[in-house]
Amino acid sequence: MTKKVYLGGKGLTKRISIGGDSQVSVQTMWKEPIDDLISNPEKLERILNEMSQLSLLGCDIVRFAVPDMESAKGLNLLSERTIMPLVADIHFDHTLALECLKSNVAAIRINPGNIGSEENTRTVIQACRDHGVPIRIGINSGSLPKDLQEEIAAGTITRAQGLCETAAREAEIFEKYNFDQYVVSMKSSDVQETIQCNTFYSQKYNNPLHLGVTEAGPLIGGIVKSSIAFSNLLAKGIGDTIRVSLSSSPENEVIAGINILKECGKRSRGVNLVSCPRCGRIGFDVHSFVDRWQNRLLAMDKNITVAVMGCVVNGPGEGRHADLGIAGTSDKAIIFKKGKIVRTIDAKDADKVFEEELNSL
Ligand code: SF4
Repeated sequence: MTKKVYLGGKGLTKRISIGGDSQVSVQTMWKEPIDDLISNPEKLERILNEMSQLSLLGCDIVRFAVPDMESAKGLNLLSERTIMPLVADIHFDHTLALECLKSNVAAIRINPGNIGSEENTRTVIQACRDHGVPIRIGINSGSLPKDLQEEIAAGTITRAQGLCETAAREAEIFEKYNFDQYVVSMKSSDVQETIQCNTFYSQKYNNPLHLGVTEAGPLIGGIVKSSIAFSNLLAKGIGDTIRVSLSSSPENEVIAGINILKECGKRSRGVNLVSCPRCGRIGFDVHSFVDRWQNRLLAMDKNITVAVMGCVVNGPGEGRHADLGIAGTSDKAIIFKKGKIVRTIDAKDADKVFEEELNSL
């Protein structure tokens, strides 16, 4: 079992743990700059609101890029107004980490390899220790040390071994200063490499691992890559926090992450939604109904299955295991429970009646 690392708990932020027997957490990364939040209160409120929505969907942690002092101050503002544990993602300038620690930021992501001298890393470690804030070490396959790159080129080690060795080297400095509150992430855009490096690392070390396939790609391709990598690792008990990295919204990253964990048996959350793919028998617009309801169902704390089916002929039968189902003809919809029709309604009232029936369960 991995060591446990604690984050959050300052101000309004939720205190959570990563590693050990903790629930595998889901995180995402914000997709826009936050260097203008002091002068842009509307944007600040919008981001806070969007993070509340992510929290309802099951997001545990949100990471923000902090490339300059304005962004550090923006992140500090956010961290004082949210329950969401926020991570500051910092490269090159360690003073940005020190600025973020002045507020309720829950964790710092640095890579000792690009933060300058060992003294800079030691300063960040000491400040994080003083504030009770953990560090995530992030290693990318594109930034391995020169000697390891040469070994990979010569074929004496694999790239996955190189990633693992780089992470171990970077972690040495934390161990040297007796700081064990760190999480390791080794990222590759290759699924098999991601599986291999995390497997190697977990065989040798017991630090919590952040799983991610970096630059995984667009929505569907990216979800496929992350699902394959994570399900392989999670089945072996490897992985303490995950991010599905997508060329898409944070919301989609969170929904994908929660669903992967659900299907891997690592998290039970929200209503189980089954819906038919549609075919020529379609009498009900399944796709738009599912689009409207998917997030609300994910945010609900009910251990039930809901079926949204395209036709009255096959729908109730195909969805007979569902606690609640809806299917339709062109102008009518039926509500069924465990395969039995309980109501016939006008299709235009589908959302209203579905909500009533859902609330009654
Ligand atoms: S429920 Fe009806 S519309 Fe949906 S796939 Fe089955 S037969 Fe086709």
